[in-house]
Amino acid sequence: MTYTKEESIFTKIIKGQISCDKIYENKDTLAFLDINPINEGHTLVITKKEYKDFLDIPETELENLSKTVQKVAKAVKKATHADGINISTNIGEAAGQVVFHVHVHIIPRFENDGLKSWKRNSNARTNKDIAQNISKYL
Ligand code: AMP
Repeated sequence: MTYTKEESIFTKIIKGQISCDKIYENKDTLAFLDINPINEGHTLVITKKEYKDFLDIPETELENLSKTVQKVAKAVKKATHADGINISTNIGEAAGQVVFHVHVHIIPRFENDGLKSWKRNSNARTNKDIAQNISKYL
């Protein structure tokens, strides 16, 4: 029996097997509205090739993805008259990733949208040892 890896829902969107509200497309990337938006205009940008998350993509794809994210974020901000934008990507279930096909969220933010930024952890230390420990892995 041949094993075929199950396609992500986003690959199905790329193939046109599932519809989406498309905003922009080029050879390497696609941008479309999130089906369950945090605010109106919440957009996802994905790579057409299937990589599981942001840490998994090669540098050239990162460049393609980043360019599309910036281009589309500018358009989202203008179109929604947003006061600000959050650009984020979830990596791993613990970080809230549900779809394991790299995607960047572009979320329009408004002064009084009631969404808070992340709560800070006053128990989390910040010092030179922690910085050096992280640097070791570069
Ligand atoms: P994440 O939690 O970062 O993996 O986010 C996945 C996002 O994909 C969620 O915000 C979902 O609302 C969105 N999503 C899932 N299925 C679809 C779909 N068919 N069309 C558009 N957005 C989707």
